[in-house]
Amino acid sequence: MFGEGMIDPADMADKLVRLKTDRDIIMIYCPQCSKRVEFAVTHPTADGSHYQGINVPERIQQMMEWNPKDVICYDCKRYIKVRLTLAKTRPMDLEATIGAELSVT
Ligand SMILES: [Zn+2]
Repeated sequence: MFGEGMIDPADMADKLVRLKTDRDIIMIYCPQCSKRVEFAVTHPTADGSHYQGINVPERIQQMMEWNPKDVICYDCKRYIKVRLTLAKTRPMDLEATIGAELSVT
């Protein structure tokens, strides 16, 4: 018998499918090699849209969350640290800085 809080496997599968489409994709360039790097962000109105890092709508920037380990330049084998630069007078930028080297195991 399922107790309170137990997740039915069917519901879980449902949830995983939903998670995939409840993400938007943000595209930035690796600060080191300029290669295109894409990562997924989640926010309440995500629907699978793609955005350029310099052109993410403000409402999304205010709510979006991402996993820092998703932002990787595979050419440099490095994580890219992304941080939001909030500015009132101009569109907000996604600022990318090169992160720690990926451990290759
Ligand atoms: Zn790179």
